[in-house]
Amino acid sequence: ALGVGIVGLPNVGKSTLFNAITKAGAVAANYPFATIDKNVGIVSLPDERLGILATLYLKGNRTPSPVPTYVEFVDIAGLVKGAHKGEGLGNQFLANIREVAAIAHVVRCFESEEIVHVEGRVDPVGDAITINLELALADLQSLEKRMDRLRKNARANKDDAALLPLIERLLEHLSAGKPARTFTEGEPEVRAKFFKETGLLTAKPMIYVANVPDSDLPDGANNAHVIGLKKLAAEEGMDVVPISAQIEAELSELDPEEALVFLNDLGLSEPGLNRLVRVAYRMLGLQTFLTAGEKEVRAWTIRQGDKAPTAAGVIHTDLERTFVRALVIDWQKLVEAGSIAAAREHGWLRTEGKDYVMQEGDVVEFLCSG
Ligand code: GDP
Repeated sequence: ALGVGIVGLPNVGKSTLFNAITKAGAVAANYPFATIDKNVGIVSLPDERLGILATLYLKGNRTPSPVPTYVEFVDIAGLVKGAHKGEGLGNQFLANIREVAAIAHVVRCFESEEIVHVEGRVDPVGDAITINLELALADLQSLEKRMDRLRKNARANKDDAALLPLIERLLEHLSAGKPARTFTEGEPEVRAKFFKETGLLTAKPMIYVANVPDSDLPDGANNAHVIGLKKLAAEEGMDVVPISAQIEAELSELDPEEALVFLNDLGLSEPGLNRLVRVAYRMLGLQTFLTAGEKEVRAWTIRQGDKAPTAAGVIHTDLERTFVRALVIDWQKLVEAGSIAAAREHGWLRTEGKDYVMQEGDVVEFLCSG
């Protein structure tokens, strides 16, 4: 799964944000699944290339529909102190986090008399540390179990034996309260494989979502809480995205024209979800390729480094197996040419085989057998 799990202490604005996501996503008609889990919401990735390319495919007075790609967000409720000991919805909660590829960690940076804070004060850095500690404690448990098994196998298995010293240092790292994602020892591939097999939660990229008052949007530069969070995040090489869950909720109730007026009134150029989804996309190591025709111009998601047959398989699973070759052009080159036919005449339309590594912004037509 490539989704982003939304976590955070109670009363920080998670449900408000998640409801905004599901309402906003409901209009994104391109979602491939007819039914969608009630704890999953999608956010479209803004992509201005689609509108530009669409103008090349005018037929009569009909422009193709721009269809953006998206990121899935999963509502993961139930984190409380002691989750690693199974308190609250502890075990279920941790199992749900294991399923997602990244974590959006919502922290409260807004003051309010009416809305109680679980700890009785607004302290997002403290809250972030509380949650990170729960995740680190859960990882320590997983790691210790894994360690026991490795020790038993080490006599018979050289690979397992070789891992032991590395794991011991990782144990020390986690015990010092540091997340696995900042552990840099050993070979990157060995480390990544081990993190995955062990299901380490603190190895996943984390985005700190600072729920700020609307007066502190878009960058939260004047909010002392956000400044503190940025420091914490920077130590882990992670990002902070300031957002107002309440504003996002209000935006999700409006039609597009009304939403623009509302954003203008607030002095904002776009919804916070746009900023959030862009950061999530980058953190997940994803990239976009495009398909274009008279019906639609569409963005599709693959991982950075994916090859052409994998990309074909995203459009339809059969296409990966039956892939023969791909016709490829960079989107800007296509705009420069003005049409596929003109691009072909210029010799700009390339034929690529199964080993071609896809590039961001490739416009592709796949040729398949059968
Ligand atoms: P959750 O427990 O983390 O899911 O938090 P909720 O989304 O249920 O929010 C808790 C309370 O805080 C609700 O009464 C929300 O209306 C309120 N709330 C959420 N976001 C904001 C915000 O940005 N500003 C203010 N003032 N209140 C908010």
